[in-house]
Amino acid sequence: MATPAPHTEKPHVLFFPFPAQGHVKPALQLAKLLHHYHGFQVTFVHTEHNRRRLLRAHRPDALSGIPGFCFAAVPDGLPPSDVNASQDMAALLLSLETSVPHFRNLVADLPPVSCVISDIEHILIAAKEMGLRCVTFWTTGACAFMACQQCQQLVDMGILPFKEAEQLRNGYLDRTVVDWVPGMPKHIRLRDFPSFIRTTDPEDPMIKILLSSMACHRTTPSAIIFHTFDELERETIAAMAGILPPIYAVGPLPLLVSQIPVGGALDTLESNLSKENHACLEWLKGKGPNSVVYVSFGSIATLNKEQLVEFAWGLANSKQEFLWVIRDDLVNNGADEPANVLPPEFLEGTKARNYMTNWVPQDAVLQHEAIGAFLTHCGWNSMLESISAGVPMLCWPFGADQYTNSRYACSEWRVGMEISSDAKRDEVESAIREVMEGERGKEMKRTVMEWKEKATVAAMPGGPSWVNLEKVIREVICLAQGAEEPLAEKHSET
Ligand code: UDP
Repeated sequence: MATPAPHTEKPHVLFFPFPAQGHVKPALQLAKLLHHYHGFQVTFVHTEHNRRRLLRAHRPDALSGIPGFCFAAVPDGLPPSDVNASQDMAALLLSLETSVPHFRNLVADLPPVSCVISDIEHILIAAKEMGLRCVTFWTTGACAFMACQQCQQLVDMGILPFKEAEQLRNGYLDRTVVDWVPGMPKHIRLRDFPSFIRTTDPEDPMIKILLSSMACHRTTPSAIIFHTFDELERETIAAMAGILPPIYAVGPLPLLVSQIPVGGALDTLESNLSKENHACLEWLKGKGPNSVVYVSFGSIATLNKEQLVEFAWGLANSKQEFLWVIRDDLVNNGADEPANVLPPEFLEGTKARNYMTNWVPQDAVLQHEAIGAFLTHCGWNSMLESISAGVPMLCWPFGADQYTNSRYACSEWRVGMEISSDAKRDEVESAIREVMEGERGKEMKRTVMEWKEKATVAAMPGGPSWVNLEKVIREVICLAQGAEEPLAEKHSET
């Protein structure tokens, strides 16, 4: 952005993202933008568990903060666990309510907070009760959020919870089309809904959390900031305008943040909970354009031994070079050491054309010209990063919003090809060959390059996402407390 928006005083914004990698990373990106371009004071809240992980992964001063940008930490209510591994997300969702008193104490100790930005229901509600302006920053796509917003309707229609476990197994989810959701394509099926709905338990705690959190985001925040861009999800965003507070699409954030000049103090503020292996970029340097398959299942998804072995042989038999992120806790939640599960013949047979590591600087990897395709679990950040880099995807959704993301990537944006959840090595091999060498792969590459262009335009100074960011600052975050709340219809044209 060429000119920072004029402000007479510097607002103090408190960020408290849901404490998982895929939420913390875009939240820090948004915080950096508000600080760098608008001079906002920022307090960024981690859980103590994540604070330990971050400090372990980076320098001891990685969370010391810089002038006007501080970090704080609160307990998450869970017992201590392995500092190198992702926590149990369901347990975390259930325990976060216990962070509220710590959040209240923190706010009381800080300089006056102008606005709280969070995606945690309890934090938004507490902030509002304390008389603070609060804004939801939703870090997954608008499409999955819209699907989640329909869950109350699914309950009211008697669809949710499912009557029999059979319905979750025998293709019922695949066959059942949900063609009545405003702003969503008519071909969306129950299978494409976030996986939280896959329950037969009327008391399922995840469904209860989902329903109450969706209600909270309709009524509590003054606005919802989405990590997406208008062109990508225009119809969904337009349909949501009628049921939600004002919506602002401000992504893809990595493209906006990349415009902050390097070498400044903000560079020292890290959000990766695991230590990145930068040597993989050296390995990529020697590779031809579009010649390497990048494989990563994000920070939470886990595989069983058989799945890992099938992916390994699929990669080996495809004869392509590949860079594979295998987290220490990837196989059975860390119960199995990946090195002990991968067959020695696979390791020997692919050693000249593979690079396997625990964690990489994914943005830089995807932006590397050597990457030809991304075999992904369809986490929202990964998908936006892949689109932003013009890399076609092989989609293997694992859970949560990833089913919705995969459906959109394959059937709407046409930048991905789905692999079955129980895919064996032959399917993996042929999907990799198709995306790297086949006609469908070429078509996906052409389409994703068009999306890359649209994402780039959205993130350019003066582009829709910059404009939306300025609007939410002006119309919501900087609006004086007690001033008139912005009206949804004022923003429907965004
Ligand atoms: N990521 C990374 N290095 C890796 C793997 C993942 O930096 O080796 C980042 C990735 O760039 C993305 C985030 O971790 O920003 C994962 O978020 P996503 O929404 O894709 O998936 P989740 O981990 O939430 O399932």
